[in-house]
Amino acid sequence: MATLEIKDLHVSVVTDDAPKEILKGVDLTIEAGQTHAIMGPNGSGKSTLSYAIAGHPKYEVTSGSILLDGEDVLEMSVDERARAGLFLAMQYPVEVPGVSMSNFLRTAATAVRGEAPQVRHWVKEVKGAMTELEIDPSFAERSVNEGFSGGEKKRHEILQLALLKPKIAILDETDSGLDVDALRVVSDGVNRYRASGEVGVMLITHYTRILKHITPDFVHVFAGGRIVESGGAELAARLEDEGYVKYTGKQEVTS
Ligand code: ADP
Ligand code: MG
Ligand code: MG
Repeated sequence: MATLEIKDLHVSVVTDDAPKEILKGVDLTIEAGQTHAIMGPNGSGKSTLSYAIAGHPKYEVTSGSILLDGEDVLEMSVDERARAGLFLAMQYPVEVPGVSMSNFLRTAATAVRGEAPQVRHWVKEVKGAMTELEIDPSFAERSVNEGFSGGEKKRHEILQLALLKPKIAILDETDSGLDVDALRVVSDGVNRYRASGEVGVMLITHYTRILKHITPDFVHVFAGGRIVESGGAELAARLEDEGYVKYTGKQEVTS
């Protein structure tokens, strides 16, 4: 069973001028079978945390550690992290013009599994997962994310999750831009996947809405680049009422 252990993580973003420290000492342990919600205001560093775990080159770990089952994640390349069982559904999924969804998924599955999936099984697997996520079969031949709506992109992130079967899944604002129906489809997909009890989920979100569909075991409030409070699902309900003003000192501007 997988354990992701983040200890006193400090991360700076590499910019054109001086590097800027964004994460200021994050401690978090996620075990298989657990869902941790990371909630916080915009700009608090939630995506930076997800990028640092995934190995994005713009985000430099200046101190602290990330271990997956005791292995040093920071020593691994981006590919090695994926093979080790880390998965990141990005807040802003990238478009890959000229690469079809089906080719992309097959290449990713081959890389993660270490061998090409058998064609017959694979076709069935992909069709089944697409049906469950209410994705039209025609999407298989479309370029990755090109011209996809926000909701379509997020469904495809969950399609990848279902097919790549990571040990630790980081879902960065998978709920943003979803209408009520898409939110249900995406949440059902995550719930089906976590029902195995074999995956640890880090669910990053700004809003409590998705937590009504995906009940977290733990809720962590993220502000100013660190976790400032942790609790159970009841903490999310309190945040819904009170917002983040208590942690930021700023009233949030909602649009
Ligand atoms: P959140 O996901 O919580 O909204 P982010 O991790 O995206 O927060 O951003 C945290 C802070 O780091 C913000 O002030 C943001 O402007 C800054 N930041 C993140 N990525 C970059 C980048 N590539 N270049 C410059 N600043 C960045
Ligand atoms: Mg943000
Ligand atoms: Mg973000």
